[in-house]
Parts: sequence; structure tokens; C-alpha cells
Amino acid sequence: MGYKCKCGGELRKSHTEVEFYGIDFGVRECEVCSSCGTEYLSEDIIEEMEEEIKNRGIFALERAVKITKSGNSLVLRLPPEIVKFLEIHHKSTVRLFPADKHRLEVEVLG
Ligand SMILES: [Zn+2]
Repeated sequence: MGYKCKCGGELRKSHTEVEFYGIDFGVRECEVCSSCGTEYLSEDIIEEMEEEIKNRGIFALERAVKITKSGNSLVLRLPPEIVKFLEIHHKSTVRLFPADKHRLEVEVLG
């Protein structure tokens, strides 16, 4: 080790439950700051996570869809693969947030 947290605190070896994109990676080694509590995963584990995410095809869920019209609203259709992945249904509530002029973020509320 020999390095410190951004906050200046000491890092201690520890274990943490790692979950990313809803995938459970189990309990893994990490280093945790004894001052602010920030957890740092090793490069190896991060690479392994990226590999696993690629393998599971999460990034492959990206789709281009056409917007249609219904009354005064525009309708965005969600492809079934994305619906399944997000575990949403026809009565789900989502929050829409325009991140910038070209990006719309959709947060699933339940
Ligand atoms: Zn810290």
C-alpha cells in the first residue's frame, strides 16, 4: 500500500460486499479509509467487474428507438429487453431528467 485516501486518512485492508449494475460480485477485498470510510477496490477486481458486465451484455441493451405521438405528448417506447432488465411494468413510475440538450436520464422509482 503506502498511499493514503484523498482526505488524508489511513487505508486499512478490509472486505466489502460488491454490487454493480445489479450484479452481485460477492464479498471482496478492499481498502477502507479509517477516517472518511471511503472504500477502494483493487484494479484487478474492477477489471473483473468490467469483464463480467460485458459478458452479461448489459451494454448490449442499448437501443435506438423512434419517438411517436399521442395527443400532446410524445411517446417513447421501451424495448422488452430493457423493460425486463429494469424490472419495470406498465404501472411503474420513473423520473425524467434532461441531463443536457442531447441526453435524457430515466430513473426507475418503482
Ligand atoms: Zn478518507
